[in-house]
Amino acid sequence: MQKIQIERTTAPKAKPADESKLGFGKIFTDHMYVMEYNPEQGWHDPKIMPYQPIVLDPSAMVFHYGQEMFEGMKAYKCADGRIRLFRPNKNIERANNSNRRLCIPEIPADDFLNAIKTLVAVDADWIPSRPGTSLYIRPFVIATDPFLGVRPSNTYKFIIILSPVGAYYESGLDPVKIWIEDDYVRAVRGGIGEAKTGGNYVASLAAQVKAHDEGYSQVLWLDGVERKYIEEVGAMNIFFKINGTVVTPMLNGSILPGVTRASCIDLCKHWGLPVEERRISVDELVEAARTGALEECWGSGTAAVISPVGALRYENEVMQIKDGGIGEFSQKLYDTVTGIQTGKVEDTLGWTVEVTPLEK
Ligand SMILES: *Cc1c(COP(=O)(O)O)cnc(C)c1O
Repeated sequence: MQKIQIERTTAPKAKPADESKLGFGKIFTDHMYVMEYNPEQGWHDPKIMPYQPIVLDPSAMVFHYGQEMFEGMKAYKCADGRIRLFRPNKNIERANNSNRRLCIPEIPADDFLNAIKTLVAVDADWIPSRPGTSLYIRPFVIATDPFLGVRPSNTYKFIIILSPVGAYYESGLDPVKIWIEDDYVRAVRGGIGEAKTGGNYVASLAAQVKAHDEGYSQVLWLDGVERKYIEEVGAMNIFFKINGTVVTPMLNGSILPGVTRASCIDLCKHWGLPVEERRISVDELVEAARTGALEECWGSGTAAVISPVGALRYENEVMQIKDGGIGEFSQKLYDTVTGIQTGKVEDTLGWTVEVTPLEK
């Protein structure tokens, strides 16, 4: 494994005084991790340094053709004072799947995990401890060749930044209203939908603006070919409970394979619930809502963990799900996943990885 050179800041920033006002992704810690790639040396020279701007040539390829990959995960300060990561190897595996799809060189998994653990250990004092808060970890790779032709870059930077983030729900789970988009699409099979990359997000903005204007907080995407099958929500995967069976769209190449999605499937199976990963059409969903067979709906993703859905709108029909409140399994999944993450529920599945703070 590569040795990471650590340069500590001489001017530590003041930590946020009020952990109830952290919000999401607005504050960054004292340090960042940077590693360079070139064809001669491969990934080399990993460093942890004071958080600072990066200097790039204006012709750097990432600005023009969007060759970039990112990840998102969290570190938790647990009630017992320990620091835990949640299934980091799943994120690392997915990052390298994204890298392959985007023609970015893969990052050795052990160096990747060591980078995350070491950076979190250096900035361990920044992990908030108020219930529901965490340290968001954002690894990303950008293409840096100063060149305007279209081809994969030869040089890259791999960077990790950290942001203390607030509780997604300050006062318990809160059901969201979701807009089913039948005009714009996010991704198509054979495209980059299953890679975690900025291009998918820029493709989603126009529909998000439209949904917000209509009073909906999230967009549920349909497949890009027939606009008939359910795919996923903005930055979350989607689950339905129909007649006692948990149903979620199968991974088909255009859906992002969420770590939280995989964890929900594992837990539901563990609890003896039937789980189906399959195609589900919007017509089937509308029918299930009309007949009352649709018992629950929730989104899954690192930011909110579980987001209960209270209502769905498709074309001109608004479908309220049961009483529009929080479903039994939405709550149970939320309590169990967050319980494991924060050490309150025993981690019998071996999902957490502990980080030991570094001596100063
Ligand atoms: C990151 C992401 C998700 C959720 O993945 P998690 O690993 O559960 O956080 C779902 N959909 C999209 C488009 C995403 O980018």
